[in-house]
Amino acid sequence: MIEVKDLLVAYFSMEIGINANIPTYSGGLGVLAGDTLRSAADLELPIIGLTLLYKKGYFKQKIDEHGHQKEEEVIWDPNKFMTPLSDIVHVNIEGRDVKVKAWVYKFQGVTKRENYILFLDTDLPENSEYDRNITQYLYGSDDKYRLAQEMILGIGGVKMLECIGCDNLRKYHMNEGHSALLTLELLRRFNKADDQIQEVRNKCVFTTHTPVPAGHDQFPRHMAESMLQHYLTDKLKEEIFLDNKLNMTYLGLRFSEHINGVAKKHGEVSRTMFPGYHIESITNGIHSGFWTAPDMKELFDKYLPGWEADPFSLRYVLSIPKEEVWNAHTKSKKNLINYVNKTHNLDMSEDVFTIGFARRAATYKRGDMLFTDINKLMRIADKFKGIQIIYAGKAHPKDWEGKQVIKRIIEKMNSVKHKIKVCYLENYNIEVAKKLVSGVDIWLNTPMRPQEASGTSGMKAAHNGIPQFSVLDGWWIEGHIENITGWSIGAHPDTSKENIHQEDVEDLYDKLEYIILPRFYNQRDQWIDTMRHSIAINGSFFNTHRMVQQYVLNAYFE
Ligand SMILES: *Cc1c(COP(=O)(O)O)cnc(C)c1O
Repeated sequence: MIEVKDLLVAYFSMEIGINANIPTYSGGLGVLAGDTLRSAADLELPIIGLTLLYKKGYFKQKIDEHGHQKEEEVIWDPNKFMTPLSDIVHVNIEGRDVKVKAWVYKFQGVTKRENYILFLDTDLPENSEYDRNITQYLYGSDDKYRLAQEMILGIGGVKMLECIGCDNLRKYHMNEGHSALLTLELLRRFNKADDQIQEVRNKCVFTTHTPVPAGHDQFPRHMAESMLQHYLTDKLKEEIFLDNKLNMTYLGLRFSEHINGVAKKHGEVSRTMFPGYHIESITNGIHSGFWTAPDMKELFDKYLPGWEADPFSLRYVLSIPKEEVWNAHTKSKKNLINYVNKTHNLDMSEDVFTIGFARRAATYKRGDMLFTDINKLMRIADKFKGIQIIYAGKAHPKDWEGKQVIKRIIEKMNSVKHKIKVCYLENYNIEVAKKLVSGVDIWLNTPMRPQEASGTSGMKAAHNGIPQFSVLDGWWIEGHIENITGWSIGAHPDTSKENIHQEDVEDLYDKLEYIILPRFYNQRDQWIDTMRHSIAINGSFFNTHRMVQQYVLNAYFE
């Protein structure tokens, strides 16, 4: 049913966003996984993806007029997209034998090569009610549920691969620590080898994504011991617990030969955070063909045939006539503005400068920064022919502070709406993201340094000729050329200042007022030049084709 004999790498990720209608991702991590696998297929690389099924998905977001987020279940039918395999494997959780099956999702790259993703599922009648639920929700319930999920992904994943005939893969790639328990199953397999740990390390690639210690998944030792039981030998217990905790990042670090962060700066931060490990960096990308809007695609097709298979050729966008770039953008902008006006009963105009801000509503991203001084913002809008702002983003169901950010944005929105048209789009997902990253005029990003490991939405915008206006963090440190690909906000990341927040705010308003808005409204020619450079310089580099090739050279065949 599936062809596995030439498979080279298994790519494990707690979330994979492969299809806008399969709600098994919550944000950047899952979208990156989807883009990675799409590019691997385009490049004809035999890589298989593994994740969990989440039959009740990540939630559907509603926001009421006071700015409260409501979470609704998403019911989706895996039968519409994938087929179940008949193989069953067992994972022992807390002494119980939990049965796991897999669904295969098949997809093709640009040359029609077919690749697969396995979605693991415990919803089998032989399992207890609790165990049937393990693969139902992405980020549901408590730590114990989470650890059970990570056992299914890591241990169940390796067993399932073995069961379908993949027992001789070159590498097991962990996209973040959630799947790091796969190393325990590999250790068991190399039980008799002289240097069992080195054997496992030779097989493992670990990509870390989290530049703050609190962001790493960890479980109390007693919980890990009672859940994992016979997967833990006495020798292993000495190896894997740190401060009486099972820390998934340390597990990944400990057992991987290749370790990398997701941007140059993030590599540096990770080396400081985990001294003693050799940590490299491979900067993230996005899938060019997937994230370029239809109107811009048409233009690229006309001037750069074959660009989807070879996104490096986007550098030639510099030779596309400016008015054609502008016309393609205008079409995407109309599309977004129509969607916003229709769904939110507004009358936004396609002639007004439109700012986009959309990503998970996590506090470190400072989504409400633009509204720090609403009087100043309204004065700036008045000085020109106006500003429009479109927001979107879900807060994690248990992230109370993230929900407060949404609430603050909505409150401020209401107090500026007589001067500035603002909208908070509900239920940010791949489909909404595609409209946003191609339809606004500028892409705003305001993370607290150095917490944005990479960030990818600005790369999506760049592919559509949307310059980025962002704090220098993550990928933007590498992609930013002032006035050429966009604009920075605040100090360089290496300068540490006390009032950095206040300085960021002032720089944000000053650049809007004195550089960005004048250029957009009065120097259109120069503006379009920045658009072209965003595509030519950043689209041609910050794509997953380049990224996957670096993984092949530096991690899979080092
Ligand atoms: C790209 C994407 C993200 C990641 O956005 P960042 O700005 O990199 O945090 C999150 N959610 C969705 C739906 C996306 O498409």
